[in-house]
Amino acid sequence: MHHDVIVIHGRYAGMAANLQLVRARRSVLVIDAGERRNRFASHSHEFLGQDGVPAGELAASARQQVEGGI
Ligand SMILES: Cc1cc2nc3c(=O)[nH]c(=O)nc-3n(C[C@H](O)[C@H](O)[C@H](O)COP(=O)(O)OP(=O)(O)OC[C@H]3O[C@@H](n4cnc5c(N)ncnc54)[C@H](O)[C@@H]3O)c2cc1C
Repeated sequence: MHHDVIVIHGRYAGMAANLQLVRARRSVLVIDAGERRNRFASHSHEFLGQDGVPAGELAASARQQVEGGI
C-alpha cells in the first residue's frame, strides 16, 4: 500500500505532525510502540487549559482529533 508519509512516533509530537499532514490531505502511516513517556504520571501539571487532565485522556483526545481529520 502506498503512503505519502510514514511517521514513526504516534504520541503528542507525532500526532501534531499527523494532524497537519491529514489536513493537507496526505495519506499517513503511523508506527508507534505505544509507550508514552508520561505514562507514569497520573495527570498533567501546569498545562494551560488542560491542567489536571489525565495524560491518557489527553492522548486519546488528540488521537480522536487526528483520526477525525479536518
Ligand atoms: C513522569 C512524567 C510526567 C510528565 N508530566 C508532564 C506534565 O505534567 N506536563 C508537561 O507538559 N509535560 C510533562 N511531561 C513531559 C511530557 O510527557 C513529554 O514531554 C511528552 O510525553 C513528550 O511527548 P512526545 O510525543 O514527544 O514523545 P513520547 O510521549 O515519548 O512518545 C513517543 C512515542 O513514539 C514511540 N516510539 C519511539 N520510538 C519508536 C520506534 N522506533 N518505533 C515505534 N514507536 C516508537 C513510543 O513508543 C511512544 O509511543 C512528563 C514526563 C514524564 C516522564
